[in-house]
Amino acid sequence: MATLNLNAINKSFGSAKVLHDISLAIEDKEFVVFVGPSGCGKSTLLRIIAGLEESTSGSIHIGDEDVSDAAPVDRGISMVFQSYALYPHLSVYENIAFPLRVQKMPKDELEERVQRAAGILQLTEKLDLKPGQLSGGQRQRVAIGRSIVRNPKVFLFDEPLSNLDAALRGDMRVELSQLHSQLDATMVYVTHDQVEAMTMADRIVVLNGGKVEQFGSPMELYHHPATKFVAGFIGQPN
Ligand code: ADP
Ligand code: MG
Repeated sequence: MATLNLNAINKSFGSAKVLHDISLAIEDKEFVVFVGPSGCGKSTLLRIIAGLEESTSGSIHIGDEDVSDAAPVDRGISMVFQSYALYPHLSVYENIAFPLRVQKMPKDELEERVQRAAGILQLTEKLDLKPGQLSGGQRQRVAIGRSIVRNPKVFLFDEPLSNLDAALRGDMRVELSQLHSQLDATMVYVTHDQVEAMTMADRIVVLNGGKVEQFGSPMELYHHPATKFVAGFIGQPN
């Protein structure tokens, strides 16, 4: 059974139709990348999955459950944002613990979850520091830690590396791939960067003008592009 099913998702803002009949079946523990040019609807689709934006029509299922009308916190989905959105006055520990404090989780379980996330992200030595004392890559890891502690079934990433310089971006790609195998979670990752998509994805969704051009493995897209757009887009990295 596919973990994350999108069924005929449409979205309009006023008279502007930005998503056209998007249906996708994303498998359990898959790393799926949505790639496409700026303005093609990647963020809107991700926000609809997260429950931060309402679709005009269509439904979303996680496992057997229809989550279309569920509040964001009840979907078992966690979104890592492009901007770090960390609290500068709180320690790394408290930044990671924040969603659990909001839930009023008992202290022992909270401590255990924060320490586990810190271990996975190699932040154990940094827990007492403030975000301002960290590198860009470490700050990004804190933001991811905040998602990990909630034990989501699905992680969503919206261009998480676009603020980083090229060298760090390369390192973080490797780290995120490792994180995916360590966490055994389903991940949906948005980028406009073809190289990122081709190197990180199990399968890629190529979006253009709010439509799915193709959904397939990097090799399928490369060797058997379904449309001219896919051939041009995958063939011409930035
Ligand atoms: P991407 O993430 O691929 O760059 P977006 O999903 O952000 O694309 O945007 C897709 C289209 O929807 C764009 O034309 C954008 O201008 C429009 N759009 C996004 N959010 C809104 C909004 N809140 N109100 C009106 N139009 C929007
Ligand atoms: Mg976007």
